[in-house]
Amino acid sequence: MVKKKKPVRKKHIPQRTCVACREVLPKRALIRVVRTQDGIRVDPTGKLNGRGAYLHDRRECWEKGIKDSLAHALRTKLEQEDLYHLSNYANQLA
Ligand SMILES: [Zn+2]
Repeated sequence: MVKKKKPVRKKHIPQRTCVACREVLPKRALIRVVRTQDGIRVDPTGKLNGRGAYLHDRRECWEKGIKDSLAHALRTKLEQEDLYHLSNYANQLA
């Protein structure tokens, strides 16, 4: 059951898209994942340099993103180590 929401533009709140479900939300409501030189990192502060992608803070989107759209969004291939790291992170989400 997926509700489609249209991006609502109010004032100047930065909007980002969850790469798994394509829902557009204020940046703060999403978790940033960054491709760094050392691999893929979860970046809750949003301050790491590198190509970033955003995911909801719910496991469903992480699992979907890890399998599919995240690698594409980051323009890379997820290595075994990245998958492990990301899955671990996903497992602690609701
Ligand atoms: Zn999502």
